[in-house]
Amino acid sequence: MDRRADAFVYEPLPARVLFGAGRRADVAGEVARLGCARPLIVTSPEQHAWADEIAATFEAASTSRFCEAAMHTPWHTTVRALDAVARSRADCVIAIGGGSAIGLSKAIALQTDLPQIVLPTTYAGSEVTPIIGETRDGEKRTQRTLKVLPEVVIYDVELTTTLPPAMSAASGLNAIAHAVEALYATDGNPITSLMAEEGMASLASALPDIVRTPSSIEARRIAQYGAWLCGTCLGAVSMGLHHKICHVLGGSFDLPHAQTHAIMIAHVAAYNADAAPAAMTRIARALNAQDAWSGLHELARALNMPLSLKAIGMPEDGTDVAIERVTQNAYSNPRTPDARTLRIMLTRAWNGEPPARVV
Ligand code: NAD
Repeated sequence: MDRRADAFVYEPLPARVLFGAGRRADVAGEVARLGCARPLIVTSPEQHAWADEIAATFEAASTSRFCEAAMHTPWHTTVRALDAVARSRADCVIAIGGGSAIGLSKAIALQTDLPQIVLPTTYAGSEVTPIIGETRDGEKRTQRTLKVLPEVVIYDVELTTTLPPAMSAASGLNAIAHAVEALYATDGNPITSLMAEEGMASLASALPDIVRTPSSIEARRIAQYGAWLCGTCLGAVSMGLHHKICHVLGGSFDLPHAQTHAIMIAHVAAYNADAAPAAMTRIARALNAQDAWSGLHELARALNMPLSLKAIGMPEDGTDVAIERVTQNAYSNPRTPDARTLRIMLTRAWNGEPPARVV
């Protein structure tokens, strides 16, 4: 029990979670358990072989595949997927892949109410959140609704061993960012904080092993467990400045999602540090580091991640647009951001300088 918490709200989300190597063999049983018989299997184009493998566990005529999922859930892709749902008379969706495949599955569920069974293959965490971001007419809009929360999540570590080391590291830091912001969320609670600290510690210990030995099932298992916990934090409490900045940078400059998170999280932790000392203590403890932001920065360095926004394609003059959009709407964060200090932080991040508390 967190003895600092005297009053809080904790609202767990309904989901059935199966965890373990080889668990994808349970997919057909889970479809039957939901009372369904005609799944549509969705993946990103690169993962179509997994769609074939899962489809082979059903009678050929009862399954169909849609392997066109794309980052940021473009609406025109959803329209084609809905057409595939209608043509195949699907009664449930099976998604295998990262946040992009799961995003498409959620977009289908939002329009059709079909139940979802999802098998995550990255550490992004979307599988356990009631959140969906969709891109229409060049604008990405995010909403929270239980309609998109997957009914069943199958964590099969064997599906993650092919995730390249650089993407594994970026995706793992993306998950850690959920835990960092959960620890200072205004609607946080002791249970979510326990998950955040445990999830962060699991990922921080496993990611260096994964970068050294990407085929290590043991390291992958620990990372996937951590990603589940961190994703649960994302689904349970409000995210702050870091998620707002990454949403803006991704949307404004088409930056890669996980890598943007990986670069920004140490900078935002330093920015928020003085306003959230208890969270910083827990982050430092989870990372076994002297302080939270250096620990996050050192972890990213140890994983050979790009450390500057410049390196992942943000234009140098993009800072003004980013500041304008980040300060446009109110959202919860332990420190109220202002244009001057945001500019200092974003300039440091663009240049790849170490994170600093900006005063
Ligand atoms: P992704 O799903 O786009 O995958 C990134 C790349 O990795 C793709 O090329 C994919 O084919 C490949 N890949 C995935 N798993 C692989 C594996 N096991 N082996 C080899 N290659 C693999 O990336 P992501 O970071 O998982 O997801 C990003 C998207 O998810 C964004 O659109 C983001 O907004 C969304 N997201 C949503 C939530 C939410 O709660 N709604 C949470 C996190 C992310």
